[in-house]
Amino acid sequence: MKLDTRAMRHLTAEDWKVLAAVEQGSKNHELVPVPIIERFSRLKGGSSLVSKCISTLAKTSLIAKMKEAKYDGYRLTYGGLDYLALHTHSQKKHIYSVGTRVGVGKESDIMLVADHTGAQQILKIHRLGRISFRTVKTNRDYLKKNASGSWMYLSTLAARKEYAFLSALHSAGIPVPTPIAHSRHTIVMSLVDAPPLRQISSVPDPAALYASLIELYLRLAKHGLIHGDYNEFNILIREDISTNPETGTEEITLVPVVIDFPQMISMEHVNAEMYFDRDINCIKIFFERRFHFKPTTPGPFYKDVKKTVGRDGFERLDATLEASGITKKMAKDLEAAIRQHEEEKLQNPEAFEPSDDEEDDEDEDEDEEDKEGEETNTDEKEKEEQPSIVIGFQSPSES
Ligand code: ADP
Ligand code: MG
Repeated sequence: MKLDTRAMRHLTAEDWKVLAAVEQGSKNHELVPVPIIERFSRLKGGSSLVSKCISTLAKTSLIAKMKEAKYDGYRLTYGGLDYLALHTHSQKKHIYSVGTRVGVGKESDIMLVADHTGAQQILKIHRLGRISFRTVKTNRDYLKKNASGSWMYLSTLAARKEYAFLSALHSAGIPVPTPIAHSRHTIVMSLVDAPPLRQISSVPDPAALYASLIELYLRLAKHGLIHGDYNEFNILIREDISTNPETGTEEITLVPVVIDFPQMISMEHVNAEMYFDRDINCIKIFFERRFHFKPTTPGPFYKDVKKTVGRDGFERLDATLEASGITKKMAKDLEAAIRQHEEEKLQNPEAFEPSDDEEDDEDEDEDEEDKEGEETNTDEKEKEEQPSIVIGFQSPSES
């Protein structure tokens, strides 16, 4: 699914109202009947104006009919939800223009955007449920019967959870992007001008960097949190330059900035220890492979770290979800979808590779909206990136 904003500027105020009406109707109808769209859109022009808008929106694939529908109705497409979120961000002056895509996975699109002052920011569009549940039959059946499996619900939940944690962590002084805004399945945050660890081929002191990654992880734990996907893709490495007051020389410190929080769990979670160990191992394996660095001491161990939760004045943040209105049932649905997604990724990694064939993303059983992915872009195929960035070394002229 690509974000194609070209049609946005051609939509009239009435089109937007009708699109919002389809979204509103989707809360109670899988396929929103036309009379309900008319009622929710509250347009003075009556049904002929509404049908004109419907036709524009359907042509632009922002709404779609379903195959074998028993009545005349429409549902929102991925594109429709994207437009509504962008429209909100734009009205609140958080986004003025949308630029290139910086990251693409099957769970999200990461876009470079700018606000009206020209400041660059990141828009993360969650796409959970886009291809999940497709390879495992039982879940497909579950998905069909259960609205809690729908992509719109899951992606919106993922964004809500991520924004809640981003805000909480940012307030607690953890190095994360600055949260800016949230709408539906999207969040806007500051652009961190730092490469992911994955792209870094060499650092002056791997032991020091390793220590800072572990220290950051243990800080999260003191707040009661386990990241759950703490790896070289989700840790950006920033170079902070300062002047040593004694020697007057410039010093470079590598500061890890952590991102990607939809899978975050509490240190109290039943499987906390497993996720804790998995995260720590991920970092260890990466440091050994990339920098040939092996820590001399074992651990850290969950059992010991558990005792530090809430200590040293660290505010517990694992209740952030409830505080942000995400119910236990919602949290469970989201967790199930994320775990399912992880399992499927392990079983069938190719299905999760970014591909040219975007049509493949859509759920083939559902409807005709799949047309929206027709255009393909060969640039998009993510090449296996080679680590190329050397970071943290003083340049000869500075030292
Ligand atoms: P996903 O859930 O798909 O893994 P992430 O939030 O991890 O999405 O983002 C994917 C990639 O996009 C990251 O590995 C990073 O390279 C880039 N990215 C995401 N957020 C930011 C940000 N705020 N600043 C800079 N780069 C970012
Ligand atoms: Mg990620």
